[in-house]
Amino acid sequence: MRERFWERYSLGELNRKEWEALCDGCGQCCLKRYVEDGVVTVYGIACRLLDIETVRCRDYPNRLKKVPTCHQLTPTTVPQYDWLPETCAYRRLHQGKPLPPWHPLLVGDRSKMRERGITVSHYAVPKDSVPRRRMRQHVIARWRLAEKKRARA
Ligand code: SF4
Repeated sequence: MRERFWERYSLGELNRKEWEALCDGCGQCCLKRYVEDGVVTVYGIACRLLDIETVRCRDYPNRLKKVPTCHQLTPTTVPQYDWLPETCAYRRLHQGKPLPPWHPLLVGDRSKMRERGITVSHYAVPKDSVPRRRMRQHVIARWRLAEKKRARA
């Protein structure tokens, strides 16, 4: 990986290793979510492929086949995922913002982000453990996309 590549190159100029290293492994994009009528609802319910303890996908290379609703972030698709958390490095760099100070690329490991609770490992529950009728109890965030866009402007 090139030195401090996140400051020197655009998302589209990164090589594969650099691109993958931007992901801090928070797991927030691996939570169940609905986007309906411009309203995003996020549940503390993990995708069935997410290993909640390590916050790693159990089958990253085949995830799109196994979970068709999974997301493939690329330099082109990042702008359309406007529900990504404010902390997400892809979103931040796309918006011209720096990496957060606790990011593993700056700190060297995930210790600081764990200290700050920037990981779903301490609250996410497995998808299979939540019956559909109980999903409402697991809502952790809800916002209107348009409002968020206005707030960012
Ligand atoms: S929200 Fe962003 S940083 Fe967090 S796991 Fe998903 S892609 Fe990685």
